Amino acid sequence: MERTELQVLNPATEEVIATVPAATTADVDAAVVRATAAQTSWAAAAPADRARILRRFAAVVDAHAEELALLEVREAGHTLGNARWEAGNVRDLLDYAAGGVERLNGRQIPVPGGLDITILEPLGVIGVIAPWNFPMPIAAWATAPALAAGNAVLLKPAETTPLTALRLAELALEAGLPEGLLQVLPGEGPVAGTALVDHPGVAKIVFTGSTRVGKGIMARAADQVKRVTLELGGKSPNIVFADADLAAAAAATPMSFLDNSGQDCCARTRILVQRSVYDRFLELLTPAIQEIVVGDPLDERTQMGPLISRAQLERVRSYVPDTLPGIRGKAPEGPGFWFPPTVLTGLPEDAPCAVEEVFGPVAVVLPFEDEADAIRLANATPYGLSGSIWTRDVGRALRASRAVRAGNLSVNSHSSVRYWTPFGGFGQSGLGRELGPDALTAFTETKNVFISTEA
Ligand code: NAD
Repeated sequence: MERTELQVLNPATEEVIATVPAATTADVDAAVVRATAAQTSWAAAAPADRARILRRFAAVVDAHAEELALLEVREAGHTLGNARWEAGNVRDLLDYAAGGVERLNGRQIPVPGGLDITILEPLGVIGVIAPWNFPMPIAAWATAPALAAGNAVLLKPAETTPLTALRLAELALEAGLPEGLLQVLPGEGPVAGTALVDHPGVAKIVFTGSTRVGKGIMARAADQVKRVTLELGGKSPNIVFADADLAAAAAATPMSFLDNSGQDCCARTRILVQRSVYDRFLELLTPAIQEIVVGDPLDERTQMGPLISRAQLERVRSYVPDTLPGIRGKAPEGPGFWFPPTVLTGLPEDAPCAVEEVFGPVAVVLPFEDEADAIRLANATPYGLSGSIWTRDVGRALRASRAVRAGNLSVNSHSSVRYWTPFGGFGQSGLGRELGPDALTAFTETKNVFISTEA
C-alpha cells in the first residue's frame, strides 16, 4: 500500500527524527507543471544572471554548511568529518557549475555553401532520483549542472533520507532561485519515482541506486525514448602488486571499503593481492582493520558509523555469517544498525561475497599469480565502476589502468570522485558520465543549424 508519510530514523540510535509527507503521483504532476513554467523563464534569462544566482546558492549553502552536515549525520549516520566534506562538496559543485553557464559554447563547423553552428539547448525538466548512501552530494552532482545548463530539476530523495534535500530546496529559494525551478518530492520509489520516469513532461532521468532498479527505469524510459544517466552498483578491485609499497597499501586499504560503512558504490570490496606478498599484506592489514574506530558519528574521532537501516543490516548479515573466516574489527552493541569492519579470507573466487555487492563494511581478499591473473580477476564482474592499482612500476600501473574495465581508476590511491573529473561506470555499473568539464553537456541536446549564404 502507498505510504502517506515517510519516517526518518537516526540510524545510530533508531529514534524517529522526522516524519515527512510522501509525494503522490498527483504531486508529481503538479510539480511538473510548475517546473515547466519556471524552466522557460530560466532558460531565457541572461547567462550571467543565472551564473550569479547559482553562485549565490553556493554561498548560502556555505553559510549553512554546519547545519546541513549535522542533518546528514542525523538522517544518514555519516561521520561528522564526512558530512562536513559533503556539505562543502555541494557548495563546490554549485560554484563549479556556475562557472560553466557562461562557457556553454556550441561550435562553428566548416561546411560548403554557408555557415554551420551547433547550439546546446537545455532539455527542459530533469528528474533526479537519488539514493540514501550520499544523499547530499549525489543529489547535487546532477542538480547543479542541470540548473546551470538551463533546466528545471525535480529531485526525489531516497525514502530514508529526505531531510537534506528538503533543506537545500529552501536554501535555493533564499538564494534567489526562481520558485518551481528546484522542487523536492520525497516519496516512495515505485510511486513518486515511477511517476517521474513515466511523465512525458520530464525530459531526462538521472538515477543513482541499485542496478536492479536502474535496469527497470531504463526499460520504462525506453517507451518515450527518454534520456537516462544511470549510476549503479559496483564490486571494485583493489589490486596490490608485490612491488607496491605494501605498508602504504595496507594502511590505505581499510577506508577504501569502510568509508560510509561500505555503503559506497566505489568501495574497493575485492582486495586482490599477489600471492608472493599475500601473507605479509594480511599481517599489515589485520591491525589496521582492528583499530578502526566505529561508533557515535558525532564524535570527531569516529571513522565509521552505522548502516542506514535495519533492512540493510539484515542484508549484510545474510552475506556474512560469523562462521566465515577473516579479520573482524569492533562495533558498538545496543541500539543502532552496527556491523563490524570485516575482511573475509580463504573464500573461493565465486563466493557470493566475492561477486555480489554487499553494500556494507565487508571486503574479500583473493590471491593472484601475476599481472595477467590480476587483470582477469579484476574484470571477472559484470560491474565496472572503480578500482585501485598499487605498484611502484609505472609501466605496470599504466598497463593495468588500460586493462581494467572500469570508469574510475586510481594508482597508489583510492580516490574516485572529484567534481573536476568525469565519473561513471562501465558495464552494469551505469550509463553516461557525471561531473567533470562536460557535466553541463549531459543536460543539453545538440542542435545543428545550417545558414545558407547562397540565397
Ligand atoms: P535503490 O535502487 O533501491 O533506490 C535508489 C532510489 O531509487 C531511491 O530514491 C528509491 O526511492 C528509488 N526507487 C526505488 N524503486 C524505484 C522505482 N521502481 N522507480 C523509480 N525509482 C525507484 O537503491 P538504494 O538502496 O537507495 O541505494 C543503494 C544502491 O545504489 C547500491 O546498489 C549502490 O551501489 C548504488 N549506488 C550507486 C552509485 C553510483 O554512483 N554508481 C552511487 C550510490 C549508490
